[in-house]
Amino acid sequence: MSIPLIIEFPVMAKSPVPDQSRLDRVIAEARRHSSEREATYRERALKLYPWICGRCAREFSGVRLRELTVHHKDHNHDNNPLDGSNWELLCIYCHENEHARVADEAARGRSPGDQGPVATHNPFADLQKRLDEKKKN
Ligand SMILES: [Zn+2]
Ligand SMILES: [Zn+2]
Repeated sequence: MSIPLIIEFPVMAKSPVPDQSRLDRVIAEARRHSSEREATYRERALKLYPWICGRCAREFSGVRLRELTVHHKDHNHDNNPLDGSNWELLCIYCHENEHARVADEAARGRSPGDQGPVATHNPFADLQKRLDEKKKN
């Protein structure tokens, strides 16, 4: 039987140490790519839009510019059209609120903007009362 030997050989040849460092490299690489990508679209968004929070309208400049972040309107961080149509500049506070609001709405099973009125009274209760009054007259 030569097949088990073929399977076993690469397993025995591998030591766990280079494996781990390879994994670390892959993770580090992925992290570097994602932060590079983020820096790229943030830079671009800052060139496209005035440095103003889209919610609270605060202006940012200098070191405080760090507090201005890029929000993805469709919440897909991989969707980065170069015309900026999926980006919105939000300060870190409004950005957090925006995500909390959407998460809240998702939890309640509502889509954003669907603010239907909640029925607080029974419209037929009044009708029944009026019918009763009619009978009395
Ligand atoms: Zn804001
Ligand atoms: Zn966001």
